[in-house]
Amino acid sequence: MKVWTVGTSSAVPTADRGLAANLIEYNGERILFDCGEGTQRRLMADKMGLMKISRIFISHWHADHFSGLLGLIQTMEMEGREEPLYIYGPPRTEEFTDRMLDTGYFNRSYDIFVEDLVEGDEIIGEGYIVRPFEVEHGINAFGFSFEEDSQKKVNKDKMRELGLEQSPKIGELKQGETVEFDGQKIMPEDIIEEMPGRKIVYSGDTSKCDNLISHAENADVLIHEATCLHDIIDERHGHTSALQAGEIAEEAGVEKLVLTHFSRRYRNKEEMLLQEAGEVFENVELGEDGKSFEIKPHRPEK
Ligand SMILES: [Zn+2]
Ligand SMILES: [Zn+2]
Repeated sequence: MKVWTVGTSSAVPTADRGLAANLIEYNGERILFDCGEGTQRRLMADKMGLMKISRIFISHWHADHFSGLLGLIQTMEMEGREEPLYIYGPPRTEEFTDRMLDTGYFNRSYDIFVEDLVEGDEIIGEGYIVRPFEVEHGINAFGFSFEEDSQKKVNKDKMRELGLEQSPKIGELKQGETVEFDGQKIMPEDIIEEMPGRKIVYSGDTSKCDNLISHAENADVLIHEATCLHDIIDERHGHTSALQAGEIAEEAGVEKLVLTHFSRRYRNKEEMLLQEAGEVFENVELGEDGKSFEIKPHRPEK
C-alpha cells in the first residue's frame, strides 16, 4: 500500500508544485483524492497508473482541488477506457460535474457515476472503506479517511511456542477451525489475531478542526494542509498553519504527518513549515509532487 502526494501547492501553483491531488494505491487499485490542474501530467511523469484510477474523491469545489478533472476524464477516453469511473464529493458534486461534462464536444467510451456524499456515508471498496467527514472551510468541504478492513495475522511467536511453524494445521486455524496438535486442542484465537487495517486520512482544506481530529485518530498517515506559518494564520480563514497541523497530528495520535497545500509565499522556504510543525510533532515530512510513502501492514505485537 502506497500513498503519493501528487500536487502540493495551495491556491496558485508554482514552477515546482502543482495543485492539490493525492493518490492511494491499494491492491492494484488507484484512488485519487482531489484533482487540481496539472494532476494528470504528474501522474504520468511518475508512472502512478493513471488508467487504474477507479474512484475520485473531491474534497470541495474550489478550483485548485478540481480543475484537473475534465482533462483527466478526456485522457481516459482517448486511452480507450471502458471501466466505469466513480466521482464523489460534498453536496452539489453531481451538479458541478454534470455542468463540466456538458462543456465542449466530446465522446465518452465509459460510464461516469457521480455521487453527492454526506458525513456518515461509507464507500465500500474491495478490502477498504472511505468515509467523508465535514471540515471547516466556509463552504461544503470534506476530509476523507481511507480505512483498510481488519486483517487476520498469525502471531509468529505463539506459533513457534506451540511448535506449529511447519504444520499444515496453520491453514486450518486461519480458516477458523479448531485443531488437534501434539495432543492438545488449539483454537484459532490462540494464534490468530485480528489486526486493525491501515488508515490514511486527508484533510482537504480546513481550519483546525475537532471533527478532523476525531476522524484521524490513530491514522498511519495524516496528509494535512499547512497553508502558512502560524504568524499569519489569522489572515487565512479556513486554513491551517504548520504549527496547528502538528498539534492535530499530536492530538489525533497519528503515526506520521505529511504536510501539503503550501502557499507560494514559502516557495523554496518550505523547510520553515516543516520546522514549525516539527516543534510539536516529531514524525513529520513535507509533501512533494510525486513523492510516495509506503505503508506497512500492522503486525501482532511480540
Ligand atoms: Zn485549496
Ligand atoms: Zn479551498
